[in-house]
Amino acid sequence: MPPPLSQSKLPRSETPSPEAEVEIPTWQQEIKTAFRLADELCRFLNIDPAEVGISVPAAKQFPLFVPRGFARRMESGNPDDPLLRQVLNVVQEEVSDAQFKVDPVGESQVGIAPGLLQKYAGRALMVVTGVCAVHCRYCFRRHFPYQSFQQIGAEVGRWQLALDAVRSDESIHEVLLSGGDPLVLTDDLLTELLTMLENIPHLKRLRIHTRTPIVIPSRVTKTLVKRLASSRLAVWFVVHANHGNELGTEVLDSLGRLVAAGIPVLNQTVLLRGVNDSSEVLEELFTKLADASVLPYYLHQLDRVAGAAHFEVPIEVGKQLIEQLRTKLPGYAVPRYVQERPGELAKTILA
Ligand SMILES: *Cc1c(COP(=O)(O)O)cnc(C)c1O
Ligand code: SF4
Repeated sequence: MPPPLSQSKLPRSETPSPEAEVEIPTWQQEIKTAFRLADELCRFLNIDPAEVGISVPAAKQFPLFVPRGFARRMESGNPDDPLLRQVLNVVQEEVSDAQFKVDPVGESQVGIAPGLLQKYAGRALMVVTGVCAVHCRYCFRRHFPYQSFQQIGAEVGRWQLALDAVRSDESIHEVLLSGGDPLVLTDDLLTELLTMLENIPHLKRLRIHTRTPIVIPSRVTKTLVKRLASSRLAVWFVVHANHGNELGTEVLDSLGRLVAAGIPVLNQTVLLRGVNDSSEVLEELFTKLADASVLPYYLHQLDRVAGAAHFEVPIEVGKQLIEQLRTKLPGYAVPRYVQERPGELAKTILA
């Protein structure tokens, strides 16, 4: 049983304390006021829900969750908006295809402790929470038992087992915090976790895999940046943006706060049909990232997760896109095009 959590550790929506960030709304308020129904989101965007083919069963399986700040970056009246397509539960998700599975990357096979996965040498991935700041329809973990925000922190008891496993394996030099999204945890909880990780002598690096700075940029608080920058561990950030329209001014500012603190920031992108499967869209995205000192790290071939078949782009098309980008962008701004194959010792490089 996880220990009971004090209320102070749960996200709050009350007035922030005087030393809290000045950003209004605070990131917790963004989470509280997020869209949770397709109809509401469509109304906000002046789109007729009937026109886009909303799926109720899809939302039952994996609810819609979209913070308003992210929705404001969508184009009003455009049912094909590339940001909207990533988050709206549509009837195409109901199409079943035997190739698209509940656990496409074989994660259920690689647990080394509760909440700890290891596929690759030297680094282990900690699932610190099952909560995310946005629900992406193509997510390979969309069939995970996702929890509600009321349960944030409920996993703390399990962390101890994961940390014990890391401590007892001296070959692990890097821990990846993932989920879900580790940045839905409060600064207090993250600080607690970071301290526990710092106390494991053979750990050298910490990697934080998160989409939250893209979706709710105010989450990159001064407190968080300061704490991470002062860690004895080398801290690396890996954010997740798929389209240039996701990178508004506030997002670029929040990534800039990390970069200014000396924290390297990488980005990963999932190649998605109807979202970013053109060289123009990818060029704009990777240029914006490079301009913000964020390195385009990986372009992922879609994992074949049930409900996401309509997002798939053929690998041949992906390779051509990368070839075209190589003629336009500096080498460092062209990410490696990779695929996750169960049982392999590293991600497979496609181009
Ligand atoms: C992708 C992944 C990593 C990180 O791989 P890198 O190539 O080092 O970015 C680590 N663990 C798991 C389980 C992964 O899926
Ligand atoms: S933020 Fe990441 S883990 Fe969460 S739903 Fe989106 S892709 Fe999946």
